[in-house]
Amino acid sequence: MTAIPDAGFRPARTARGPAVLGGDLLVPLADGRTVTYANLDYAATAPCMAVVAETVSELLPWYSSVHRGAGAASRRCTREYEQARETIADFLDARADDHVIFTRNTTDALNLLARALPEGTTVIGWDGEHHANLLPWRATVLLPVPADPGQAAAQLDEALARVPGQALVTVTGASNVTGEIWPIAELAGVAHARGARIAVDAAQLAPHRPVSLAGPGIDYLALSGHKAYAPFGAGVLAGRGDWLDAAPPYLAGGGATAWVGGPSDVRWHAGPARHEAGTPNLIGAVALAAACGQLAAADRGALEAAENELVARLRAGLADLPLVQELRMFGPDHHRVGIVTFAVAGHEAAAVAAHLAARHGIGVRDGQFCAHPLARRLLAQAGERAGQPLGDFAVRASIGIGSRAEHVDRLIAGVTELVTPGY
Ligand code: PMP
Repeated sequence: MTAIPDAGFRPARTARGPAVLGGDLLVPLADGRTVTYANLDYAATAPCMAVVAETVSELLPWYSSVHRGAGAASRRCTREYEQARETIADFLDARADDHVIFTRNTTDALNLLARALPEGTTVIGWDGEHHANLLPWRATVLLPVPADPGQAAAQLDEALARVPGQALVTVTGASNVTGEIWPIAELAGVAHARGARIAVDAAQLAPHRPVSLAGPGIDYLALSGHKAYAPFGAGVLAGRGDWLDAAPPYLAGGGATAWVGGPSDVRWHAGPARHEAGTPNLIGAVALAAACGQLAAADRGALEAAENELVARLRAGLADLPLVQELRMFGPDHHRVGIVTFAVAGHEAAAVAAHLAARHGIGVRDGQFCAHPLARRLLAQAGERAGQPLGDFAVRASIGIGSRAEHVDRLIAGVTELVTPGY
């Protein structure tokens, strides 16, 4: 007989730190050889943590309805789902009265928040945001991305001084184009001093650095499970409950309702349930909580140091190559998560990415990374530094847990081939 296990994820602490799946994938090359896959595309979607796969496999036989059944399996799944919310709240260092709402991803989370803003709220952000943090907002004041992040606080203070009513500041924690980290704590201080709130798009930051809602006073934070080593299609919007409880439900339907007399006679729940109508994504939520639990239990300083070492190796290797220019917003020494984006003069980004895949078994991303205005501007600036145009598209290499020096060296070797005369 199998008893109902306790809900809740308890990560296994290992000396090696968290492990991910896919480190031994074999992929074919154009010449017929097979090599292990060098996944340098974590910023798009990171591999699955081993503990996430184990947690999900263990739960799957119990897979059943959430909040909707009296049976033992349903009761366990309901507990797991609510425990997942708590694990994620702890991971984000949420305040006791913050809501943690499960969404599909960061895009969904920011759209939810955009629809929950009180009437007349002015949104202030920078013009280098990912489309997910650029397009959902109405009545947006867009500030130009400063050359020095130290200017961001002054820019914001000046802009907020001109807003007569309620304002929400929205900013990415780390750029998905360059990996550069924004001064969130400082911006939160400026926002609060002016009576505004701040939302952080932590899609790229949270998988790589500890984040805290309570510490710097971040009012709202959004993230995606698939970038945080947790596939299965869940994201989160976490933050202050008052606006969320006063807003119309994001989705109208079952689960969000406390009482229904008819289509126009509805009492909606307050709390996360208000915005989670429909059968929830239990596996996605539990997977995300498992990854968050594992990250929380890991030595984040050691993970950061390992990531920084690989980033430095990658940047130094690329800097040595003629025709290659890195994209960046701030100075070359500004701290960043594991993302390095570059262009190769005279070579289309798509052709560079295809070459790396076909000849070297490397996965990178090419394009403008759903941040079109920023990517085009940084390409133009990098072209000016290089003294030659670099085109409209770039190549992004991104790393995280499980990335190896060999992957980085392979990328540099692959790009070296391309810029070698006669190749
Ligand atoms: N913000 C940032 C900074 C991102 O990198 C991404 C994904 N590229 C998003 C938002 C959107 O994430 P998702 O596609 O998971 O909604």
